[in-house]
Amino acid sequence: MSGELRGLFAVPWERKGVCNGCGWCCEYTSINRHRLDPPPGGFTPTDIRYHLLRGALAVEDEERPGKVSHFHLLTSSFARCSAFDTENRNCSIYDQRPAICRVFPQIPEQIEGTPCSYYFEVTDATGRVFRRGGNGSLYPTPPTFPESGEGVRS
Ligand code: SF4
Ligand code: SF4
Repeated sequence: MSGELRGLFAVPWERKGVCNGCGWCCEYTSINRHRLDPPPGGFTPTDIRYHLLRGALAVEDEERPGKVSHFHLLTSSFARCSAFDTENRNCSIYDQRPAICRVFPQIPEQIEGTPCSYYFEVTDATGRVFRRGGNGSLYPTPPTFPESGEGVRS
């Protein structure tokens, strides 16, 4: 991946934790079903920023390194994935599951209020640690909040 494209992926949150196998992301979101191809003329920088800021996963164009080929949109449509085995509550195509499934979740908004056990951390310039994550996450240490507490959720 080129430096230009890597820059587009710059996200302050660092994902931590492990998957607990709850199956929520397979049963209640369709994280692997939304592919967005470029319009005629390609994606503009504004398009790219718009989609990245909303959690879309940019896929690099193999023939044009550093350029976005298409996006996978990480919207939650609350539709069970057709590959989800409801009896055994696992993925029936686990070894061949799409790349988008392998990197989920990528941002806190995707899992807050869900049973997901992943969480995200970011450290500000003063060393304060902020955490956000799924309800299934067990933060290893209590999160640190700014005095005002504005804009921070545990
Ligand atoms: S392909 Fe498998 S891992 Fe991906 S959403 Fe469907 S059931 Fe889950
Ligand atoms: S919601 Fe989170 S913990 Fe549950 S299966 Fe998906 S990635 Fe794993």
